[in-house]
Amino acid sequence: MGKPYYQMTVQEVLDALKTSENGLTNDEAERRLKEYGPNEITEDAAVSKWMIFLSQFKDLLVIVLIVAGFISLAIGSVRDGAIMFIIVIINALIGFFQEYKANKVLARLKELITSPAKVKRNGELTEIPQSKLVPGDIVYIEAGDKVPADLRIIEAFNLRTNEFSLTGESVSQEKNNKAIMHDCILADRENMAYMGTTVASGSAYGVVVATGMKTEMGKIAGMTQATTTTQSPLQIELGILAKWLTGIVIIISIGLFGVALWQGLGLFMSMVYALGIAVAAVPQALPAQVTVALASTSKRLAEKKAVVKNLPSVETLGSTTVICTDKTGTLTKNEMTVTKLWFDDAEYQVTGIGYEPKGEILDEKGTPISEEKIKELEIMLDAATMASNAEIHPPDDQHSGWYPIGDPTEAALITLSMKAGTRSPKEDEENPEIHEFPFDSERKRMSSVRKFGDRLQLAMKGATDSVLSVAKYIYRDGRILPLTEEDKEKIQKLNETWSKRALRVLAIAFRPLEANGQDYVLEETEKDVVFLGLVGMIDPPKEGVKEAVASCHQAKIRIIVMTGDHAITAQAIGKEIGLSEEGAPPTYTGTQMKKMSDSELTDILMSHKSIIFSRVAPEDKLRIVMLLEAQDEVVAVTGDGVNDAPALKRAAIGVAMGQKGTDVAKEAAELVLLDDSFPTLVEAVKEGRTIYKNLRKTVLASMTTNMAELMVVLLGLAGIAMKNWAIPILAIQILAIDLLAEVLPLTCLTFDPPDENIMKMPPRDRKEHIMNFKNSVEVMFLGGLIGTLAFLNFVMFMKRQGIILTPEMMENPLFARATAITYLTIAYCQFVNILSRRDDEKSLFNKAFFSNKILLGSIVWSITMVFIGIYTPYVSDFLRFEGPQISDWIFILGASGIYLAVYETMKLFRRLRMAKA
Ligand code: ATP
Repeated sequence: MGKPYYQMTVQEVLDALKTSENGLTNDEAERRLKEYGPNEITEDAAVSKWMIFLSQFKDLLVIVLIVAGFISLAIGSVRDGAIMFIIVIINALIGFFQEYKANKVLARLKELITSPAKVKRNGELTEIPQSKLVPGDIVYIEAGDKVPADLRIIEAFNLRTNEFSLTGESVSQEKNNKAIMHDCILADRENMAYMGTTVASGSAYGVVVATGMKTEMGKIAGMTQATTTTQSPLQIELGILAKWLTGIVIIISIGLFGVALWQGLGLFMSMVYALGIAVAAVPQALPAQVTVALASTSKRLAEKKAVVKNLPSVETLGSTTVICTDKTGTLTKNEMTVTKLWFDDAEYQVTGIGYEPKGEILDEKGTPISEEKIKELEIMLDAATMASNAEIHPPDDQHSGWYPIGDPTEAALITLSMKAGTRSPKEDEENPEIHEFPFDSERKRMSSVRKFGDRLQLAMKGATDSVLSVAKYIYRDGRILPLTEEDKEKIQKLNETWSKRALRVLAIAFRPLEANGQDYVLEETEKDVVFLGLVGMIDPPKEGVKEAVASCHQAKIRIIVMTGDHAITAQAIGKEIGLSEEGAPPTYTGTQMKKMSDSELTDILMSHKSIIFSRVAPEDKLRIVMLLEAQDEVVAVTGDGVNDAPALKRAAIGVAMGQKGTDVAKEAAELVLLDDSFPTLVEAVKEGRTIYKNLRKTVLASMTTNMAELMVVLLGLAGIAMKNWAIPILAIQILAIDLLAEVLPLTCLTFDPPDENIMKMPPRDRKEHIMNFKNSVEVMFLGGLIGTLAFLNFVMFMKRQGIILTPEMMENPLFARATAITYLTIAYCQFVNILSRRDDEKSLFNKAFFSNKILLGSIVWSITMVFIGIYTPYVSDFLRFEGPQISDWIFILGASGIYLAVYETMKLFRRLRMAKA
């Protein structure tokens, strides 16, 4: 191979890749796509499937079960050994499918939030999926983008990229298009931008030199794909719980082993029972159930346009106590329409709605203004459009009305000048842009240096206070006059009046420039500007925002609006959406905030239901998040720009905007809102609350059954020790309960729909554990009751039959029938238990009984499976069951009736206690 791309000049690279600055043709790109394959980092799917499957066996408890299986085989108990292996394999398969599915869900969600690549095809800039990029494509990248393939820069405008993900270098790197004449390492190749790195600032055109696995990122993919999966607080809690339980059951099984040995069961048999029971009493399916529940909630959330990037965030979402949201586009539609103008001391109205260039400019009396007046206004309208990069387009297949491309604020100005008829379709050719100082949310203005024949002029627009701060003159009667304090006061007053009507106000200015300027310095250029006038635009609240705000209030979730917009505009919108009962909520500006000490600001943050911070900069957002988190608040914060990334990363839940958000913000966030909408965020919180509640039900129901199984075994232990009774249930039968009767209904319990009160409760305490003292006592009581009822049924069966089943009689058919009764008692009580768990207070027979049809179906399925296990010839032999008779069934169903009655009484007392409180 010849020289590496970074050592070639731009032309050499273009030649080598058989392309030009105009990009490839569509046909050529298609051909290359076939040749080079999609631009994707692929992993070896077969290997990763095996890895997931094998990882199912790494659980200590499973290993114990496998050892137990081998021991059973060794002592000739082929049946027990076989059953243990079958159960291990079935369990592993269930775990594998659930985990595999969860991974797939996550991968699909990640696809949903990858942005398209901006590429030149047939000489025009268009957007295509990143996977369709091919070597030779010319790609445009700008601040906030993730670089979509390996690029050789062909033209750079102040480009800096962040290459931490590739080189570990945390300072952003300046890039240019100059060839490097010597060998150098990746980190020093200043004319290359690599896939997966991000654009910190500036913009550039680059030619794609490598795609997919051929990129530098692709080459190290094997190393980075060993993803570290983070665990949710609940998963961590379950891990600790499992360890505790393991300790407890090991002690019990050693006890059982000793007693069994003493009863003459033989060394190996005693060992097999002890190990099997130890394993059976642990909820080994729970971790997989949590994963399934989180994955299915993530899928549902994505359908509602909220995409989570990792499963644990779903759970954290549910504990959100404060939402810090921006305004424009999140609370409001970000569909701007200019409705007011102020120019040369006169106020005008503009008619029409949306981006359609249809409407009129009316004077103070409401009559359309004359052509001459429009001519006068033109200087301001031109400045406004020349400082705008957006476009408006007529309706097409995908859009039912006129729509903007680019910043809606700027698009509204384009619409305005088209309504007035002052916009030339060839504006950019007639008055080309020489330099641009792009908008940023710190400066709150932007400006563009334009060429007018041989003259140069700066066109500027921005927040009124921001433009006024650099204005020295005002345009009046066709003349440039000094801007007086009186003028400033008047302008600010009008700004305030319009803002009170929820208008977004923008000031327009211009400045004639010397024609010799080469390098434009911001401070030198954006000064002494001539103030032209104001435009006021409406941006109505989004549908559903008012309701979502009310829902947050009910759910005791506080809302902090952090906006770059003017305080009064934000207050007016705040009023419209019901942010506070007392009209507008307390409002502070970014400047006021900067003067406050941390403790003063904390006091404010903690003492209001809703607050507005206006004219904030991204670092103010970070400060607010940090102070709130120091008070143990669980904060969800929204953001879209590169500068928002620190706040998004810092917050418990960083929320990026899918439409207007940059790749950098999306990468830093846990949640991406595809529709940029506040109601969607609140919906996600609701789903988070629901899933936590459902998982709590599953954990408690599962622990209750495990407690029941332990109780039977413990009572059985006492029976062997004191009365020489045979064991009331075999280890393999306990495993069969888990598999046939429990796994599916417990999983389906997590699909319970949200109950009507879910957003009427305050947020849960994140530090609270599911297995706290109260719940542990309840689980012990309820599980103990099921275990006792099952053991009593076993004993009563012996009484009814008038025999004593001793350990020597374990081959007797009556023993098989007795254990079937113990088994069925546990299984049926457990069905009651799962259904009762759905609501802590309401009776099982409430109106929501049929609301979770999958759960009811899973119970019917489990009942069928249990019948097959007990009554089908070969299967029942395998599990050592003998079918109970009608009289036995009376006792089995009687026990579950008693259990139901006790549970219902418990709920009744709870309801009475709540009614009193
Ligand atoms: P939020 O932070 O709630 O999304 P926002 O969009 O108004 O609100 P910024 O984008 O930071 O916040 O804008 C701050 C101010 O800058 C606006 O109030 C407006 O006056 C001005 N502004 C917004 N967009 C532009 C633009 N494209 N060009 C010039 N000035 C702008």
